[in-house]
Amino acid sequence: MLNPERIELVRLRLGLTKSGFAKALGIDRKTVQRFEAGTHELSQNSVDNLIKISGYPQKFFESGKIDYPNSEAVSFRSLRSLTATSRNAALAAGALAFELDDWINERFELPDHSLPQLDNHTPTEAAIALRTHWGIGERPIGNMINMLESHGVRVFSLSEGTRHLDAYSFWRNDKPYVFLNTMKTPEHSRFDGAHELGHLVLHRHGGPSHRNAEDQANAFASAFLMPIADVKARLPFVHGLNDLIRGKKRWKVSTAALAYTLHKQGVISDWHYRGYCIELNKLGRTKEPHGIESETSQVWQKILTDLWREGVTITHIADALKIPEHELSNLLFGIAAAPNTQEKQKPNSLKLVE
Ligand SMILES: [Zn+2]
Repeated sequence: MLNPERIELVRLRLGLTKSGFAKALGIDRKTVQRFEAGTHELSQNSVDNLIKISGYPQKFFESGKIDYPNSEAVSFRSLRSLTATSRNAALAAGALAFELDDWINERFELPDHSLPQLDNHTPTEAAIALRTHWGIGERPIGNMINMLESHGVRVFSLSEGTRHLDAYSFWRNDKPYVFLNTMKTPEHSRFDGAHELGHLVLHRHGGPSHRNAEDQANAFASAFLMPIADVKARLPFVHGLNDLIRGKKRWKVSTAALAYTLHKQGVISDWHYRGYCIELNKLGRTKEPHGIESETSQVWQKILTDLWREGVTITHIADALKIPEHELSNLLFGIAAAPNTQEKQKPNSLKLVE
């Protein structure tokens, strides 16, 4: 018996509409509709075509219920430019991540989350409260992904081939999840991580209207990555764009994000801010002057290395989950393909218990 839910998931992963999917399988749209509604079986010929175009094995389609991120609880930015196809493909990747996470949880004991609920705070207050709660004061965040992971957030990567999707986050069974688009600049990605952290602590129980929630998450991210007192102490004056480009290294943010914060704090005048924005636009949005290196997950690195030592490779995991290896690799920052056996960076707060 094929599970219509799983066929739909793969259709979404392929970024296909029902008509496009029908065409690819060599059947008509109504058959796909009837099949997804559970009133019609697919012919073996169609299933064979599906396996061929998707790379998913048949046993994936024959497995049980699959848990999906609830699209209403997810707040996407730049909704206007984000197509429904890209959004659905990204959410379907979330469903695969849940499968993987469940598989991992049966084998490893990962830390519980330490995210307080701060929905009665303003975004700036919440950022300060969280820093205090985590004991990091006003220090810059060296690595945003590791910061999230060491506080029990599961971080996955999205390789969706679209720049319109930034990131999304989610609570599931009292576990926080963050999905980051790896096509962004590393600075942008760090901001996305902090933005999603904002959603997790501010909007867990249903936030305000969409527009507001996005603004709040952005304000949280600015305050979390660039503690106002520290920024003002280090950059009391800005004489030109180069001051910003030099200054941003401390907080590992984009020049634009630092300019925005300093403008908001009154360090940069409206007139100068407009000028910096024009200059930065000329430099382009896809490249950051003096860019930093991409961040990656230490938790996945550690887990994959441990499994690899026991002879469990990425192929075995993909097999156990009945998904193609490239789907797994997409979620794991591409680390899965070649586990790094040199344990140079051991996260001290992470305990993995077999
Ligand atoms: Zn958001």
